[in-house]
Amino acid sequence: MEPNYAFSRNIARKVLKDYDLSEVPTDLLKVFKRLGLKYIELNDAEDIEGAILEIDGKPAIAVLNKAKPIPRQRFTLAHELGHIFLAHTQRDIYDPEKDRENTATLAKQSKPPKEVEADVFASELLVPYEQLKKHTADINNVDKLAGIFQVSKQAMTLAVMNFWKKGDKKKS
Ligand SMILES: [Zn+2]
Repeated sequence: MEPNYAFSRNIARKVLKDYDLSEVPTDLLKVFKRLGLKYIELNDAEDIEGAILEIDGKPAIAVLNKAKPIPRQRFTLAHELGHIFLAHTQRDIYDPEKDRENTATLAKQSKPPKEVEADVFASELLVPYEQLKKHTADINNVDKLAGIFQVSKQAMTLAVMNFWKKGDKKKS
C-alpha cells in the first residue's frame, strides 16, 4: 500500500477547520481537550518523549515531557493525532523511536505507509499550507519560521520544500 499524501493532508485541514485552529503555533491542547484526552506534563529527561497513551484500547492521555525539546514533541503528538484522525487500526500510539526519529525520511518508502501518512498529517497540522502562505517573505528563514510554527528546523525545512513543490505545480 502506498501512503495517501493528499488524503492525509486533507484530513489535517479538516481538523484545523473543525477545531478552529486558525492561528500558529497550532494549539494541540485544544485538540486534546475536544477529543476528551487527559493531558499530563512530565519533567524527566530520562522518560519518554511526547506520546498518546491508551486505556482499554482507546486513546486517553496525551503526555508531554517538558524536559525534552518541545518542537520535537509537538511533532510526535501531532503524528499520534494523525493515527487517530486517519483511523489507523492497530496503531502504535507510542511509536518506536526509530520510526519517529527522522522526519527527513518523510517521502522515503522505507517507512511503513501509515507512518508516512501520520507524518504528512502532522506536518500539515503544525505548518498549515494556508498559514505558511502568509510568511512567504520569510520563506528562506527556516530558523524564524521554525520559531513561529514551533516545529524543529528539520520539520520546517520539509514543510518549505513541500510549499515550493506545490507552488511550482500551480505555475505549470
Ligand atoms: Zn506512528
